[in-house]
Amino acid sequence: MAEEWVEQMQNQVNTLEKLEKYINVSDDEREAIEALDTRWGISPYFASLMDKDDPDCPIRKQVIPSMKEQVNKYGMENYLVWKENRATEEVRPDCIARQYTDRIAFTVVEICAIYCRHCFRKELVVDQDLQLRFDLDEGLAWIAEHTEIRDVLITGGDPLLLSDDKLEYLITKLREMPHIEMIRIGSRLPIVLPHRITEGLKKAIGGYHKVPVWLNTQCNHPKEITEKTAKAVYELLSCGINVGNQAVLLKGINDDVDTFRELHLKLLRTRIRPYYVFYCEPAPGIDHFRTTVEKGAELIRDAIRGHTTGLAQPMYVLATKIGKIPLMPDYYIIDKNEKEYTLRNYKGETTKIPNIPE
Ligand code: SF4
Repeated sequence: MAEEWVEQMQNQVNTLEKLEKYINVSDDEREAIEALDTRWGISPYFASLMDKDDPDCPIRKQVIPSMKEQVNKYGMENYLVWKENRATEEVRPDCIARQYTDRIAFTVVEICAIYCRHCFRKELVVDQDLQLRFDLDEGLAWIAEHTEIRDVLITGGDPLLLSDDKLEYLITKLREMPHIEMIRIGSRLPIVLPHRITEGLKKAIGGYHKVPVWLNTQCNHPKEITEKTAKAVYELLSCGINVGNQAVLLKGINDDVDTFRELHLKLLRTRIRPYYVFYCEPAPGIDHFRTTVEKGAELIRDAIRGHTTGLAQPMYVLATKIGKIPLMPDYYIIDKNEKEYTLRNYKGETTKIPNIPE
């Protein structure tokens, strides 16, 4: 008998008929599903979290195609080629993307349990305009030759959709390379298909080893977190895998103070460390999800700083082809002279501390 997560994948909600079993499909959703040439699909578990009657449900908006995807006033064509420096002279396999000297992203698969409408890798994963070759051994051989690489991010698609055997092979091969100090996995499965966190997976990627595995998931709204996710995260932590979150700032989904704060509080209650909040990148066809650049810093200031523990503070960043640019609020030092600094807190209160000459 197939494992539950495999059955979930086999029964992905990816036709209008299947979707109608979960929600009352809106006109825009129906038109987009029928008209757009795009890959979409939702694990039955995640589909069950959607609001049946509200087309503005934060889960619905992330997973069901919209006619708004046809608008592309502010998105960049060939975004992924630009962002991942794929047009540079360095010879690299398709599966290796590089923005830094010491770390790379290793794309191992292009399928997902859900197809996020805001995905910055939409051209590859969702719309499939960009075709790449994914060859694990080719990627591993390249990493083995490049001894300057310390840190490998295994990404996709969703890498945890590889079989336990393939994941174990990948992790074991990477850990055998003396220059690899850490392995990161980017996966939405703890949120959208927590059934994937099985004993077999824990055996494949967990356990003590001097090269740690960090898993960063993506959760964008508190409604995405259930008891099932909390238990899956606990299982990951209990076998030595650190779990963080990389949220994407999404207009109309999490760009208000209350939702943004509750998201980060609930992540901590679930034992997931908020790591990044990404500005929604200018990939084509996702204008409708994008806020102003400043919005994320304002939310960190108004929803998080001072309102909860430092453990719940993600870094707000803009991901670019030259790496991540942090965009944090900058309101703390309001004056400085030879004698003292004047500092402001999240409530607008001020205080002074002495200045020390260099
Ligand atoms: S799970 Fe990740 S890679 Fe897949 S569509 Fe969503 S954001 Fe993109």
